[in-house]
Amino acid sequence: MARALNFFAGPAVLPVPALERAQKELLDFGGTGTSVMETSHRSKEYEAIHNEAIALIKEFLGLGDTYQVLFVGGGASMQFAMLPMNLLAKDQTADYVHTGTWSKKAIAEAKLFGNVNVAFDGETVKLTRIPKQEELKLTPGARYVHFTSNNTIKGTQWHWLPKTGNVPLVCDMSSDFLWRKFDPSPFGLIYAGAQKNVGPAGVTIVIIRNDVLAACKEENPTMLKYQTHAKENSLFNTPPVFTIYMVRNVLAYMKDVGGMAKIEEHNRKKAGMIYDTIDANPDFFRAPVAKDSRSMMNIVFRLPSEELEAKFVAEGKEKRMYGLKGHRSVGGIRISAYNSCPLDAVEQVCAFMKAFAKTNG
Ligand code: PMP
Repeated sequence: MARALNFFAGPAVLPVPALERAQKELLDFGGTGTSVMETSHRSKEYEAIHNEAIALIKEFLGLGDTYQVLFVGGGASMQFAMLPMNLLAKDQTADYVHTGTWSKKAIAEAKLFGNVNVAFDGETVKLTRIPKQEELKLTPGARYVHFTSNNTIKGTQWHWLPKTGNVPLVCDMSSDFLWRKFDPSPFGLIYAGAQKNVGPAGVTIVIIRNDVLAACKEENPTMLKYQTHAKENSLFNTPPVFTIYMVRNVLAYMKDVGGMAKIEEHNRKKAGMIYDTIDANPDFFRAPVAKDSRSMMNIVFRLPSEELEAKFVAEGKEKRMYGLKGHRSVGGIRISAYNSCPLDAVEQVCAFMKAFAKTNG
């Protein structure tokens, strides 16, 4: 049976070679006579996979020894709390840039631990764009500045980095992690759930700079301290071995196809094709996001009526195009075209959009 055209926002499509590798190694990986799910996380065979995944992330981003790459459970949602729990004291202030549903959740959790200054309130622009530098009201001496690089639901994305002087940048990159290479040096901490760009659900990748790690609070539960995971190479307790194995497979595939430069080219091409289709039919498709804030991962748009949107989703499903429905909180259409979404799937959805507009316009 042919693979579906998968546009889900996450968990999302994985590369066929990464899945086939898992299939091939399911009964016996690395000559162990077991699957990775059935092997001790202390075995040298598992540790090789674990370390390869970390090394590939370090290589893709040129992280060197200044940063630690951690695998943590609990999703990006747990990072909303774990971050301030480790970094923010009651009398300190962290700046948060509010650009969507997920930043709002991050802000709510941070308030449990210290002072939060909302450096930009995206509600004032209906969350349809990313702020400009001069719109950010930053706190001098803030503990950190937090932003969400890609707003999965609203379909906006940062295409520049906030300038914060010596204040560490902290970023939720859950929905655009490794979509392209970037300079990591302004970042004190990055976190990203794996289940959109780099693997299945079950693990969150945390990249933490050594100086930020060293300054983490001591008085937290063991499992909720970044230092615990850093000291033990994310093997303090049993990690989600199969998820990390799949992350390794996806990262190895990304390297095989040419690494970050190729991945970025591929992503820009796909998103460009969808936005071109929207822009070429302005009477039928309406993109609510400002052009300079358009997401390369989650492309959102409206049709002339909710009835037509429902029809579009239903007809898409008949063509085995899944995940076209916008998030339940905003409606409309959303096409998620993450790293592993094939070009061919995007070509087909664009052809469908054009034909649908012609028939129903
Ligand atoms: N941040 C962003 C940007 C997201 O898109 C999501 C999930 N869609 C989350 C955080 C929450 O992630 P999780 O479900 O892994 O907790």
